[in-house]
Amino acid sequence: MTGPSSTPRPEHVNGRVGGAAVRRDPATGRLESTSPPLERFLACVQKTAACWLWTGRIDRHGYGEFKAEGRKVRAHRWMYEHHSGAPIPDGMVMDHLCRTRNCVNPAHLEVTTVRENTRRGRSANREKTHCINSHEYSPENTYVSPRGGRICRTCSRATKKRSREAKRGA
Ligand SMILES: [Zn+2]
Ligand SMILES: [Zn+2]
Repeated sequence: MTGPSSTPRPEHVNGRVGGAAVRRDPATGRLESTSPPLERFLACVQKTAACWLWTGRIDRHGYGEFKAEGRKVRAHRWMYEHHSGAPIPDGMVMDHLCRTRNCVNPAHLEVTTVRENTRRGRSANREKTHCINSHEYSPENTYVSPRGGRICRTCSRATKKRSREAKRGA
């Protein structure tokens, strides 16, 4: 039985993850893939009608993880830099317009400041400039949680310290 041909299906990108060509680096003696990074990258992407989903390693924050030039980078950041041809400026963060963290579609990615990203968050408290203990939600003091909420770093440090002390006292 076959479905109607009009049904949108995810478009699989064919890679050679298993059968990738490798060579031994004479300097380090380590085996490394000779496939171009983009080819290796696309082998881990499953394109849907909207998002390009990362099927490789996902870090504990839900972002795709890609290894390029010997170091681990976030897959969507790598794709954005590859696509735009320029590095992401210091102090800027990537914003997923589709709110799908493991999406690497450059059309869904935008460079923004921490402050702007925070403002766009869906938290009900997004207009507040200070936490309940009057610490400013400055870029340095703000951690954006996986769900998009803002967490005051000062308070979170204090909470951790208190729980350590409580454990010690128990
Ligand atoms: Zn997306
Ligand atoms: Zn605080």
